[in-house]
Amino acid sequence: MEILPVVKAEAYGHGAVEAARVLAAEGARRVAVSNFEEGLALREAGLQVRVLVMADYVGCGRAALVKSGLTPVVHSLEDLKELSRMTQGSSGPVSYHLKIDSGMGRLGLCLCPAKIVSAIRETRNLEIEGLMSHFASAADDASTQTADQIVAFRDVLESFRHAGISPRYVHLSSSGAIAYGRRPPFENAVRPGLALYGYVAGGGREPRQPLVRVSPVLRWKATILAVKEVPEGSPIGYGATFRTARRTRAAVLGVGYADGYPRPLSNRGQVIAGGRFAPILGAVSMDVTTIDVTQSPQLRPGDAVTLLGSEGELELDAMRIARTAGMTPYDLLCGIHPRVKRVYVD
Ligand SMILES: *Cc1c(COP(=O)(O)O)cnc(C)c1O
Repeated sequence: MEILPVVKAEAYGHGAVEAARVLAAEGARRVAVSNFEEGLALREAGLQVRVLVMADYVGCGRAALVKSGLTPVVHSLEDLKELSRMTQGSSGPVSYHLKIDSGMGRLGLCLCPAKIVSAIRETRNLEIEGLMSHFASAADDASTQTADQIVAFRDVLESFRHAGISPRYVHLSSSGAIAYGRRPPFENAVRPGLALYGYVAGGGREPRQPLVRVSPVLRWKATILAVKEVPEGSPIGYGATFRTARRTRAAVLGVGYADGYPRPLSNRGQVIAGGRFAPILGAVSMDVTTIDVTQSPQLRPGDAVTLLGSEGELELDAMRIARTAGMTPYDLLCGIHPRVKRVYVD
């Protein structure tokens, strides 16, 4: 089984170069990104692993992708022809993966298999290294969409085999399908993203226990900028959406929605401060957020609080924060702004 770890979107906010370096050191021969710029950034950082570019197009002016040794995913016959034209005169065959739209209705070829096979036969200088598709509802047991997608994909795969076309890698599964046991027998590669970073987001109505055990990679902290005692009835923050019900020790944190800290956490979320949960008071604003630290009088400006992570027994993970904010762990993690300093620890 080949693992194609997904490091798109700055490795879901964790830092693509650092994540790819760690994965390569752990033995990954390939990583996957979404667009060519992300692939080039890995090359510019000196990474030599194979890079699969999953969601871009092969238009004119994109010769750099071949020169940089990136492996494109082809989504249309036009892309296939363009890639073949672009690679004329290259020393060896250029590899690509072909994506089939097996019923998600997004990227991928959605044609009768015979047409695809004949188009592949007409291409020169190219080697189809992979055949792939993507599931729309993999973690949802109640849905028949995954089974339908497998049937549609299998149809294409069978036609390929009859035509003597056998891509080295056949892959459909991302974290949801891996974690919830969608393992059609023909798979020999998987594309985990979210699970690498420590989460499995069950989309099902009755989520089952996932088959993989993962733990969160990232912790997010913020610094206390100021602490103040305010009397009962004091308004806090924009629009005075909160008023203190008693004398309150409030701490103002240097984090806001410009950092990707979700605004819907206003008056709803909490952080871990001084070893206790501390509720958010009022609106999360662009650069600062206020919390109630009445129970932790020892806290001072300069102290760190945990927005995401654990302190002792207490834990706030991306799943829980996302739920409170009406988000998913995907958009929460991807939304952590580049101005938030990343520190890598072993
Ligand atoms: C993002 C993505 C993945 C990884 O998805 P996760 O749910 O994060 O595991 C895999 N394949 C494709 C095509 C993707 O776009």
